[in-house]
Amino acid sequence: MKFATMNCLDCGKPARGTVETVSSVALVNDPAPDGTMEYSGETEMWWDEQRTVRDPQGRVQLVCRNGHDWFSEVLDPDGLSFEVELPLPQSGQDEGSKP
Ligand SMILES: [Zn+2]
Repeated sequence: MKFATMNCLDCGKPARGTVETVSSVALVNDPAPDGTMEYSGETEMWWDEQRTVRDPQGRVQLVCRNGHDWFSEVLDPDGLSFEVELPLPQSGQDEGSKP
């Protein structure tokens, strides 16, 4: 993959990676007799839902080793190793198909 802005805008270091979101389930133990529940200490990650964070223009969010982040265009989207959902910018149209 290739990014239009590969280096951090703050410190000049190269991107460490893309920022991703992924859902998970923090597992809980069976309820106690009084109905309370405690976390078991395990979290089940839903890796199939992992997505790259993008801005409304479709640029991906990158992060450097110093923790700075910025958005960049992807110059060769086919080079991404994971499937992403592009939020297509649509001017003058309603978003989604909610009733
Ligand atoms: Zn930086």
